[in-house]
Amino acid sequence: MIGRAVTFVACLVAGAFIGLFAAGDAGLTVGLGLGCLAWFLLETLRAARVLRWLRRGGDAANVPDVGGAWGEALDRTRRALRLRERETAEARKRLEDFLSALQASPSGVILLDADGRIEWCNQTASDQFGLDAQRDHLQHIAHLVRDPSFTAYFQGRSYAQEVVITGPGSTALRPVKLSAQMHPYGGGRHLLLSRDITAVEQAEIMRRDFVANVSHEIRTPLTVLTGFIETLQSLDLPADERGRYLELMAKQAQRMQTLVSDLLTLSRLEGSPLPGAGEWTPLAMLMAQCEQEARALSVLLGRSQSLHFAPPPPVELAGSSTELMSAISNLVSNAIRYTPSSGTVHVQWRQLGDGRLEFSVRDTGPGIAIEHIPRLTERFYRVDRSRSRETGGTGLGLAIVKHVVQRHGAELRVESALGTGSTFAIVFPSARLRPAAAPAQASIAA
Ligand code: ADP
Repeated sequence: MIGRAVTFVACLVAGAFIGLFAAGDAGLTVGLGLGCLAWFLLETLRAARVLRWLRRGGDAANVPDVGGAWGEALDRTRRALRLRERETAEARKRLEDFLSALQASPSGVILLDADGRIEWCNQTASDQFGLDAQRDHLQHIAHLVRDPSFTAYFQGRSYAQEVVITGPGSTALRPVKLSAQMHPYGGGRHLLLSRDITAVEQAEIMRRDFVANVSHEIRTPLTVLTGFIETLQSLDLPADERGRYLELMAKQAQRMQTLVSDLLTLSRLEGSPLPGAGEWTPLAMLMAQCEQEARALSVLLGRSQSLHFAPPPPVELAGSSTELMSAISNLVSNAIRYTPSSGTVHVQWRQLGDGRLEFSVRDTGPGIAIEHIPRLTERFYRVDRSRSRETGGTGLGLAIVKHVVQRHGAELRVESALGTGSTFAIVFPSARLRPAAAPAQASIAA
């Protein structure tokens, strides 16, 4: 303010001097007037520079050097601008952090404006709904997510529940299920959250199928048992007939027992920690026990197949001996149960060229059509239902084998041709092998 007054006085004094000098006393008034004019022009010039700077966006780096009140006004404006710029930068940074957090979310996130148009979506949502964040920016969500359930949900405007829809890349073989829910927020906008629930849905279907299958498997022998019990209670049968009935009842009870035992084995395999690599079992011991059980089963079933058990290599295998025994005896018992009396079953352990160890069971049974092979390890999957039941099968044997194989880092191979026979093999990694400690250990387990 003082600077302005000094400039004004200086202009007046300069004008007065010039007036006096040029025209004596008469020129004093004119000189003062010119001084005023000069001061006014000077101020206008400063104001014009300030205005020009403001019009050009008020770049804080190129502030014009004007003194006085205009200079102070400029200074204050510049400070206000700097503060605003800092606040804007901070707000932008916060927004970017927030969007990065949403981007990292395992759920799909779509921000919709009040009209249902996409303002932003994260990569998970793009993948789940087949969207392109750039291309589909401000496109209406109902035009891009065409599932009828979603359309009805969106139009219904009742978003208290989630909606389950079929994912865009879903096929009959690889179904994709998504759960989506709208959440309203400020200004009529909506947050659309989505989750891929394919695995959950499949687990639920499997659980339902499993319960249905177990109930069915138990109901059949139970019905037979109940029937026989009623007959025995109501009729006075001769002793030999009673004996025959009791034999049939024992068979059904045995069937239920085998089923329960297989179910328990499966649940133990699913729920227990992986077998440690510290337990070593000689192959000779596994083979001896397996041969003993196989020959007993063949006799029990009244078969007379030709059974061959090749001497195993002097090697020990790391893993749970109970689980390994369960897997190999399931494969051998299948071969015996499905191979007719005239057939042959070959069982052998051999070390492969790359150091891995293969256990294989080759039979000359009916063979399995190729379309069944990928499904054999599903629980209760049977190619020939009646033959499985006749021979005491539960439909769980190969499911147990699959679990044991996985838990030992091994691989199950199935080769089969209809009418020719089948070969089931388990290939163990070389890391699970070591030379047998001493041949004396190869004794038959009790
Ligand atoms: P199951 O108790 O019925 O034998 P598994 O899980 O052991 O159940 O086997 C599944 C199905 O695979 C069997 O029902 C049978 O149809 C088929 N299968 C398994 N092993 C053989 C084999 N060696 N030869 C022919 N079919 C087999």
